[in-house]
Amino acid sequence: MAGAAVGRQWLDTRGPALAVRSPIDGRVLATVRGATPADVKRVVDASAEAFKTWRTVPAPRRGEFVRRIGEKLRAAKGDLAALVTLEAGKITQESLGEVQEMIDVCDFAVGLSRQLYGLTIASERPGHRMMEQWHPLGPVGVISAFNFPVAVWAWNAMLALVCGDTVVWKPSEKTPLTALACHRIVCDVISESKDLNVPDGVVAVVVGDAGVGQALAESEQVPLVSATGSTRMGRAVATTVARRLGRSLLELGGNNGMILAPSADLELAVRAITFAAAGTCGQRCTTLRRLIVHNSIRRDVVDRLAKVFARLRVGDPRQDGVLVGPLVDEAAGEAMDRALKAARAAGGVVHGGGWVMDGVPDGGVYVRPAVVEMPDAAAPVIREETFAPILYVLGYDTLDQAIAIHNDVPQGLSSAIFTSDVREAETFLSPSGSDCGIANVNIGTSGAEIGGAFGGEKATGGGRESGSDAWKTYMRRTTNTVNYSRDLPLAQGIRFDA
Ligand code: NAD
Repeated sequence: MAGAAVGRQWLDTRGPALAVRSPIDGRVLATVRGATPADVKRVVDASAEAFKTWRTVPAPRRGEFVRRIGEKLRAAKGDLAALVTLEAGKITQESLGEVQEMIDVCDFAVGLSRQLYGLTIASERPGHRMMEQWHPLGPVGVISAFNFPVAVWAWNAMLALVCGDTVVWKPSEKTPLTALACHRIVCDVISESKDLNVPDGVVAVVVGDAGVGQALAESEQVPLVSATGSTRMGRAVATTVARRLGRSLLELGGNNGMILAPSADLELAVRAITFAAAGTCGQRCTTLRRLIVHNSIRRDVVDRLAKVFARLRVGDPRQDGVLVGPLVDEAAGEAMDRALKAARAAGGVVHGGGWVMDGVPDGGVYVRPAVVEMPDAAAPVIREETFAPILYVLGYDTLDQAIAIHNDVPQGLSSAIFTSDVREAETFLSPSGSDCGIANVNIGTSGAEIGGAFGGEKATGGGRESGSDAWKTYMRRTTNTVNYSRDLPLAQGIRFDA
């Protein structure tokens, strides 16, 4: 299978062949011929050429193109979700949710296509007018991670498209098939959109490993690189893009915490914790990894969670009733084992964990989600993101102490507090509360809606994508001053009479 395409044109790529395996049973689903850095250059050149046309298409017509993509995604929702499950190992419900996110962001982008507003600004000079305009930026590179194989692309691409940018997508080498399927869907829309003057190269895809991502990050013609993945990858991409003074939008690892106060509704909290910590088999950037619980209820909460985690059905993600599918690969299972070993060595008491062998498909890596009582927050393993379902439990006595523990990790993506005390809730949301990009009250850390700006601080990278005014990153702002008087007054009252 070809590993690169510019619109409807598939390229004969020359990179190494990638065997794509299903995490469900390790079976090879397909082999894709990866791209080389030279292929990346061809794709980027074509994208830059297409940009010259696409930037001149009126934004609402670009929105109409995205509306049609949304319609196609609606029609393909079941099939695409099934492919997400096959390739990324998510349970069907979560895969359907992921495709729904793509549809939602299409709707959002369509509305946005008529709202790319600039400001009009009062000029200090008589007979002058100042205004801002937002213009398309150019080809946008999108590097995505395996765990949201399609939604992250849509968050970026649909906004970029209405903003007048073209898009070059480098999906995870673990999940290229879903990317190729999405690309095919957009190709069908291009074929059916002759009335909109859509250039073929408005979307492109290049399959490959880190080297292909690196080549994209190095491309001078790509003014913005949006990269989703580990903090390690983000550092490499940020450095490469900064070296050429490009713009990067980074969505990196999280180490998300929740404070559980004594006044909280515990029934609600346990349900929220379970979805946030064990859902997607702990493989969400927003997965709950640290529970900071008031010491007066700590024992009770740990007992409840240990019971619920022990009951969760682990298995084939396509089966009804299964809530925890496989880890992506064996390396992920080994990373989980290593983290649990380190936690035990630091005095942690582990409930659950371990590989599940019975009632699961052969060839996949299935694990029991773990609750780990930790004596304190000092163990280095708590500060790292292990991409697996491990929930560390820490105790606290005062809210100040809880917030200090909460913020004392390198990452800053998502956070939550469960409390019925409005003072505690507001303190958590205040400047002296959570230091994350996302802070919730009485809901878990995962499962964000597309309407808000999504992203996090510190080692999570600082980027924001999807809703709110995240679109501004995909455009360039010009400030225009127009003189309609017969004089030439200078700003700040400067006199310069030659
Ligand atoms: P990863 O970092 O291994 O790979 C992500 C992508 O980056 C892949 O496409 C990969 O090929 C590419 N890549 C890797 N090194 C690169 C380099 N040096 N230059 C250019 N591209 C490079 O991540 P993963 O294992 O696929 O995904 C899991 C990670 O992603 C976790 O850390 C998770 O928290 C994070 N993530 C973050 C968000 C977010 O929005 N903050 C969303 C999803 C996943």
